[in-house]
Amino acid sequence: MLFLDNARVYRFDRERRRFVCGRNVLIDEGRIAGIDIDPSGLRVERVDLDGAVLLPAFADCHVHLAQTGACTGPRSLAAVDSYAAFEHAIARIPSEFGMVYAAGYDDAAWSDGRSAGAGPLDRLHPDDVAMIVRVDGHSSIVNRATLRWLDLPADVDGIERAADGAPTGRLFLDANWRAQALVAQRTPIDVQRANARRAADARAVRHDRPSAKGTHHFIEHFEMALPAHVDACAGMQLHLSMQPQFHATWGAPGGMYDERLGTQRRRAMNPMRALVEAGALVCGGSDAPVCALDPLAGMHAACTAQEPESCLDPHAALALYTINAAGFARESHERGNIERGLRADLVVLDRDPLSGVPFGDCSVMRTFVGGV
Ligand SMILES: [Zn+2]
Repeated sequence: MLFLDNARVYRFDRERRRFVCGRNVLIDEGRIAGIDIDPSGLRVERVDLDGAVLLPAFADCHVHLAQTGACTGPRSLAAVDSYAAFEHAIARIPSEFGMVYAAGYDDAAWSDGRSAGAGPLDRLHPDDVAMIVRVDGHSSIVNRATLRWLDLPADVDGIERAADGAPTGRLFLDANWRAQALVAQRTPIDVQRANARRAADARAVRHDRPSAKGTHHFIEHFEMALPAHVDACAGMQLHLSMQPQFHATWGAPGGMYDERLGTQRRRAMNPMRALVEAGALVCGGSDAPVCALDPLAGMHAACTAQEPESCLDPHAALALYTINAAGFARESHERGNIERGLRADLVVLDRDPLSGVPFGDCSVMRTFVGGV
């Protein structure tokens, strides 16, 4: 038996709707066997956590794992902040199986005000099937060789054309979705498996099979909602899968929400606080690779990215990625909290996000999966 002692152990109290603090946990055969116990008389292996914080393991409710692996390292364009950096990054994308693929650029945020284009792909990777996808996935850029291979119908919506009528390589709308689907189909299954493994290894993610009990009715990307939608979803107890980092990425004044949806809609986006207060079932995810596969970043965004009256408190933010996520997956009998009988899936943080330290300033020191 493993005895995790001298910790700040947070378990969710269903009646108080908050996490409450204990000081130790006993683990036996991979499950929580006791909380706040006196171990004298028991044969335990004591681990002194030296005041660290012990939480239920985090779950990310919306991840594209293979795609996340497909745009890590040199295939990630997330750090590109200008056209010059874009050209440099395009040159570094490796060619694999005759394909060049990268994602994550956001030219709306570039310092020089320029836009991403197909020029570097045509110049540096003229013979490969070459595609780069914008951070939100809603547009992509391909080289001329890829345009020929895709052979999209001339009248499909979203093929950007120059003044002379020639395609520029920038694809939007239906053309973008068709092109991404065709490129995905062309990616060998072994590469997709390797990508999923790469993503899981890079972020120390464990991916289990879906619950045999299925899932609940839910709305994915519950992003743009009127007050009536909030009340209706709470009333129906629909599970709402939300991505707090979206607001941190696009929700600032002058950001993408403002530009594409207008200020009035931008202010009403991602109404997590209203949903939680209405009693709706909200769970958190990253939509990786759209946002970082990083639950702490998600919780940080939930607490900071909006107007103060719209942000979550840290207890509600932590619940999105623990107890609520387990409920969403019909796994509350197995995980999602620190309770006697549940699997000992735990995370140890160096600092305490429930006592005023921002989630973004906390680091994971250790994890336990099934008590190991
Ligand atoms: Zn998604």
